[in-house]
Amino acid sequence: MPLKYSYLTCPMCDVEVPMGGDEKIGEQIFCPYCQTPLALRKKKTDELYLEEDY
Ligand SMILES: [Zn+2]
Repeated sequence: MPLKYSYLTCPMCDVEVPMGGDEKIGEQIFCPYCQTPLALRKKKTDELYLEEDY
């Protein structure tokens, strides 16, 4: 089953960051609001989230 995620929450500023849907785990994304570098991570439950990636 394909994962669906169009928005993930920035851990720094709580804004919803739009995802293209083809990002890979570990890929670096910049929050468009606070410009924090974020890495795409996956929990054991397959839930995706963003983590600060300095
Ligand atoms: Zn942010």
